[in-house]
Amino acid sequence: MIPIANPRIDRKEKQSVLEVMDSGMLASGSYVNEFENNFSSYIGTEYGIATTSGTTGLHVALKAAGIEEGDKVLTTPFTFIASSNSILYCGAEPVFVDVRPDTFNIDPEKMREKLKEDPDIQAVVIVHLYGLACDMDPIMEIVDEYNLILVEDSAQAHGAVYKGKKVGTFGDTAAFSFYPTKNMTTGEGGMVLTDDQEIVETARLLIQHGSPERYKHEILGYNYRMTNIAAAIGLRQLEKLPDFNQKRKENACFLTENLKELDWLETPYVPDDREHVFHQYTVKVENRDQFISYLEENEIGYGIYYPRPAYKQPLYKKLGYDFYELPVSESLCQQVVSLPVHPALSKGDLEKIVEVVKKFNK
Ligand SMILES: *Cc1c(COP(=O)(O)O)cnc(C)c1O
Repeated sequence: MIPIANPRIDRKEKQSVLEVMDSGMLASGSYVNEFENNFSSYIGTEYGIATTSGTTGLHVALKAAGIEEGDKVLTTPFTFIASSNSILYCGAEPVFVDVRPDTFNIDPEKMREKLKEDPDIQAVVIVHLYGLACDMDPIMEIVDEYNLILVEDSAQAHGAVYKGKKVGTFGDTAAFSFYPTKNMTTGEGGMVLTDDQEIVETARLLIQHGSPERYKHEILGYNYRMTNIAAAIGLRQLEKLPDFNQKRKENACFLTENLKELDWLETPYVPDDREHVFHQYTVKVENRDQFISYLEENEIGYGIYYPRPAYKQPLYKKLGYDFYELPVSESLCQQVVSLPVHPALSKGDLEKIVEVVKKFNK
């Protein structure tokens, strides 16, 4: 079986974890500070606040950016559930708009239509899905025109670039995830990035029970602090991230070169102004059910990201969101399949994937 994800941990991560164990500083500690500094400077922001996960990072990012109870927040339904759940955590209301069929990302035209309809919308959470940056020029124009708070869910896009600028540097704040399937990992973990002094101060309070000093609690906060053990893994992974991303790009390039002629399968679209970091290599096919059983029979791992739009999840139905009908998202949910693209693939694995896919008898 060629797995859909395969995190690469070697001697360096193990050595660093042992150092933390020996130091006795298992929770907060110097590795956390160093990881915050190194990751934020790699992406290109002033500050980084390490968290327990991408989800808790998003929660903190939204709250620190000023999203409050009753606010309306534009977002995409074609993403992992954490994107819109983080809006619910704030007591705010996700307002779903459709995505573009080519990039799978939020459609700026649809954002504009929604904003004209509903002038109460205060914020937007964009998602750079599969490692491809959103359409940032038109989005920034809309954000300025309507004076919106912008949060970037960058959980799948460590190092992705739009016109020379890395994602995570466009919004008021951004959140990254270091879950084991992501482009780099800390086990569980996340990071909030920002250039804004007020956001960083609030975010720091939120992740440690609203506490600026021991046993003084100014606001209602949480325990969302990353451990020193996780940060030690993250530091070593960050050193490898450029190589990991390079390998992902090369693997994607090989797959596209060999699959682009198939008339029943659509390979990923990469606009010229963007560097895709291929968290996922996602193709569109018409008869997906047969295709995935065929992949299973031939021991090729795959993933379906995502089988239903957020508003069709049982939770969102219960909350009354199932009046939405966003045709592009709904049809993508029926068509997408992700093939292995991770850096641990061998040349032989890639050749096997191509050979098997090409032989599929639709
Ligand atoms: C992985 C992911 C998250 C959440 O990250 P966790 O670390 O798993 O909590 C949020 N948004 C998107 C788009 C993701 O892919």
